[in-house]
Amino acid sequence: MISFDEALRIVRANAVALGTETVSLGRGLGRVLRQDVASDTAMPPFDKSAMDGFACRRADLAGALEVVETIPAGRRPRRAVGPGQCAKIMTGAMMPEGADCVVIVEETAPLPDGRVRWQGASSADNVCRKGSDVAAGDRLVAAGTRITPKVVASLALAGCVEPRVSLRPRVGVIATGSEIVDPAAIPLVPQIRDTNSLQALAQAEQAGCDARSYGIVQDDADAITAVIDRAAGERDLLLITGGVSMGDFDLVPGRLKRCGFTILFDKVAVQPGKPTLFARRGDVRVFGMPGNPVSAFITFEFFVKELLAGMTGASERPSSSRCPLAREYRRRRADRLARVPVRLTPEGTVEAVEYHGSAHITSLAGADGLIAVPAGVDWIPKDTLVDVRQI
Ligand code: AMP
Ligand code: MG
Repeated sequence: MISFDEALRIVRANAVALGTETVSLGRGLGRVLRQDVASDTAMPPFDKSAMDGFACRRADLAGALEVVETIPAGRRPRRAVGPGQCAKIMTGAMMPEGADCVVIVEETAPLPDGRVRWQGASSADNVCRKGSDVAAGDRLVAAGTRITPKVVASLALAGCVEPRVSLRPRVGVIATGSEIVDPAAIPLVPQIRDTNSLQALAQAEQAGCDARSYGIVQDDADAITAVIDRAAGERDLLLITGGVSMGDFDLVPGRLKRCGFTILFDKVAVQPGKPTLFARRGDVRVFGMPGNPVSAFITFEFFVKELLAGMTGASERPSSSRCPLAREYRRRRADRLARVPVRLTPEGTVEAVEYHGSAHITSLAGADGLIAVPAGVDWIPKDTLVDVRQI
């Protein structure tokens, strides 16, 4: 058995970077950028009015101002603004030569002779200066960034409409277990519904993968071999649930070896998820995940995501926040690092949700995150600040 940190190190060390492709920006959501993107223009590209108003000279604000023209957005000013003059200007329009500020329309009054007078109190310039946000050549988005809605506009600003991104990891999901039936079925005694396949597919899809199910396989050596061979020929990563523990019918590790895989670890000192297996054959990687759905979920969260980051070059870190424990936490055995599902309270504290163990899948649906309880710790006092990893 190896420690969680050692297992994570092995996962990272065995990630192979996938190739790249270009996608249209409109279809790039969730993809990982594999190029640095720099701006080809300054932003703003010219001195620009931030408000609807009158562009003039600050020194002239005390007197009445002659209006020399109206400047809409998208057209160059035609006249310079001289002493005692102003130009009516719209938000986003280019500042005329000679003017150094914009007074907002709400703070001006028209005079009967057509001139205007400022009657405000604010002293803001209301001018966005050329290059004040971005200089031409500035790096706007770094390679490794996932394209999320907040990043899209920066790419568009740089004219990067065909970004180079990582290929999507091709993931194959295999559920093993002779007791497992399709969730559409009404299970007979002693069958249970397959919750792992759809859960793993959802996790993989959310992580930006091209995920495919290879169905449910009986605890049968030949059937397991056949599906591993087929899936390994088509996918970059296999997620196999069940069949990796110590039972007579836990056949997955032996079958992987028969298929030519090298097992890099098969037991990790974590709870849940002790019988987690990681194997490789050429560029194909396999996680054998314990059948209990909470274990499978957490294994994906910590190990599979780490591998996917290595494959895609993603630089993001999982989001976590530090919150005080609403109630003390106790556990009976403290031999392993444990992950405990918790919920955030409206008071900004965090509390453990009802959780009966790694088969208690419904506990996750009501949880906001996971906290880590280190090996050797069986009690965490109320009010202790803990890191909550969001799920
Ligand atoms: P195993 O890892 O095969 O020993 O399975 C551990 C437990 O997880 C058993 O109670 C299984 O019935 C359950 N289990 C295995 N596979 C699944 C699955 N695909 N969906 C839900 N539960 C499963
Ligand atoms: Mg099983």
